[in-house]
Amino acid sequence: MKEDFSKYLDKPIFKAVSEVCNENGLSAFVIGGYVRDLILKRPCKDIDIVVLGSGLDLAQKVAEKLEIKKVQYFKNFGTAMFLYDGDDVEFVGARKESYNRDSRKPIVENGTLEDDQNRRDFTINAFALSLNKSSFGMLIDPFDGLKDLENKTIRTPLEPDKTYSDDPLRMLRAIRFATQLDFKIEKESLEAIKRNAERLEIISQERITDELNKIILSPKPSKGFKMLFNTNLLHHFFPEMVDLQGVETIDGKAHKDNFYHTLEVLDNICENTDDLWLRWAAIMHDIAKPRTKRFHKKVGWTFHGHEDLGAKMTPKIFKRLKLPLDAKMKYVQKLVRLHLRPIALVKGNVTDSAVRRLLFEAGEDLEDLMTLCNADITSKNEYKVEKYKRNFILVETKLKQIEEKDRVRNFQPPISGDLIMKTFKIKPCYEVGVLKTSIKEAILEGEIENDYDQAYDFMLKKAKELGLKV
Ligand code: ATP
Ligand code: MG
Repeated sequence: MKEDFSKYLDKPIFKAVSEVCNENGLSAFVIGGYVRDLILKRPCKDIDIVVLGSGLDLAQKVAEKLEIKKVQYFKNFGTAMFLYDGDDVEFVGARKESYNRDSRKPIVENGTLEDDQNRRDFTINAFALSLNKSSFGMLIDPFDGLKDLENKTIRTPLEPDKTYSDDPLRMLRAIRFATQLDFKIEKESLEAIKRNAERLEIISQERITDELNKIILSPKPSKGFKMLFNTNLLHHFFPEMVDLQGVETIDGKAHKDNFYHTLEVLDNICENTDDLWLRWAAIMHDIAKPRTKRFHKKVGWTFHGHEDLGAKMTPKIFKRLKLPLDAKMKYVQKLVRLHLRPIALVKGNVTDSAVRRLLFEAGEDLEDLMTLCNADITSKNEYKVEKYKRNFILVETKLKQIEEKDRVRNFQPPISGDLIMKTFKIKPCYEVGVLKTSIKEAILEGEIENDYDQAYDFMLKKAKELGLKV
């Protein structure tokens, strides 16, 4: 197919590469994802340029022409890159690849453009656009990727079993692209993924998690998770999530399928946030349900304590998945631990002190917690959902009212440890802690207001009980 795509190549970088090639008798192409995204009109800041010859050499010549000072050369990989006009531009020589069974790292040798396109993972990732003067803007599409773009299909250029077995990361990439672009994976490919799922073991966890996070950041991640589940890939790196799947029935009583429920919550939350970690909180919120599941003759299924056990499981799962263990993990953990609390406030008589406690514990993450809880309201019964959501608005109002009155959200105790030590002329000790905690508790319980004078008087009273003297 010979289409003219030169209208897409209006950036100065393409003109510069074209001129350098012309001056030096070289042949170069824009290739891969950048071309795909151009045609799909998706923004893309990574420009990959393939040259028949040395990528290092071409990069250097183009950098000279454009007076770019900072060029990074990766001699071992035969690649070079620089930043230009906000784009990452990478140069590489056309290559041919072959694989060993125990590694996804290929044996590389110089090759033709055709070889280079053959080594690409999907037909829609194998486009090349000519930068050569005589054919500038010509699309070279050997596997009819254009048709697959039109039909929204992920297909491998070569035999799928070999493609996935050579580099099993491609299985995750297939699912990731299908989720990001809302494409389907062609039948033979999907079956090959199922057959090769075991091969994932040669892929590092970092790379797996990279793809997983891209799936999670897609508009509708459930699509990707369902594919990960149905192909058995999920079983390899996230068995806790697989365990959520399934429904058990005893005495005619069934609980809901927590895997599909979790995916519904995840899709729901994606309509309200792009934040990866809030989306992770949705994934993790019920993760301990299988381990806490019990059946009682009178009340049916319960999952008591799944929020606390889920919070406990969070660092372990994050560690294994090579996700960060810093404040982001703590944030997810906190949301998992608190995810039932706002809903609990819907039921029964809400006391001011219960509201104050939630405000205090959620602190600056209260809005995110509310976003999670709202997403967690799922039911086949629309009437029930409506009713819950209405009640939920009442809880939000109540939280606002109490916060305005008592300011406990970013609670700074009105009496500091220092002041306690000075007042009673004591060094840091057990009693200081007791006094501080009891002041905090008194405020949260509503015995006193969040106010210096009231807290001071309360401290004197409490200190007397402890036998301390001013
Ligand atoms: P994105 O940048 O959104 O991740 P992309 O398609 O640009 O998507 P990159 O990882 O940037 O993906 O790779 C650029 C190109 O390199 C791809 O379009 C594809 O042609 C090729 N490629 C990348 N990874 C592989 C792989 N594992 N196997 C075969 N080809 C690959
Ligand atoms: Mg890219």
